[in-house]
Amino acid sequence: MARILIVEDEAHLADGIRFNLEAEGYDVEVEADGTRALEKLTAEPPAPLDLVILDVMLPGVDGFAVADAMRKSGNFTPVLMLTAKSLPDDVVHGLEAGADDYLAKPFDLAVLLARVKGLLRRRDWARGDPGSLSTARVGDAEVDFGRFEIRTRGQTFRLTLLETMLLKLLVQNAGQVVGKGEILQKVWNLSPDTETRAVDNFVVRLRRYLEADPRAPKHLQTVRGAGYRLVLEG
Ligand code: CA
Repeated sequence: MARILIVEDEAHLADGIRFNLEAEGYDVEVEADGTRALEKLTAEPPAPLDLVILDVMLPGVDGFAVADAMRKSGNFTPVLMLTAKSLPDDVVHGLEAGADDYLAKPFDLAVLLARVKGLLRRRDWARGDPGSLSTARVGDAEVDFGRFEIRTRGQTFRLTLLETMLLKLLVQNAGQVVGKGEILQKVWNLSPDTETRAVDNFVVRLRRYLEADPRAPKHLQTVRGAGYRLVLEG
């Protein structure tokens, strides 16, 4: 049974979401205040949660700041962000702050339930089902999909769900070019023609872990005009 925290100050909306999630068998908590949510999500050790549904407009601290602080504190629980508008800027801002998926208000509760299930499924996919890809070696780096970690040069780096998913997609297609449109669709759940630097920014972050010299990448290569290619050896 997955544990879900809803951070939403509109009581009727929070109650509606809670009622529907509980009916599906989830264990649900609600927090109405941004500052208290931030305290809860940056606590050490992090609260044992499987998913956070995070509204952007909150009293105290907004959802972007909560997501950002959460990631910086090392809490990588998947976040579904509720944005007020479906403006690409808002969506991208949310994803860059560390959200893993988003839903524009107003939304249908059935769509929210589908997103929650989708996000938990994506997390399970990224972690790896038994028998499927659970670790990979990229040069000197050991990628552990189950723990969302990269171990290299004596250090361990934690990955977000989206970073893990991007890396897994590239590992599964090692040696081949994976287009940006396909990445946006499969990892970000965005339309393939979305104008965003999100993929490029994530590639830059992954190169810091995977490459001895991130400015001359040997493993995570850019194929100009086509996409990205991961080379495992070398
Ligand atoms: Ca709100």
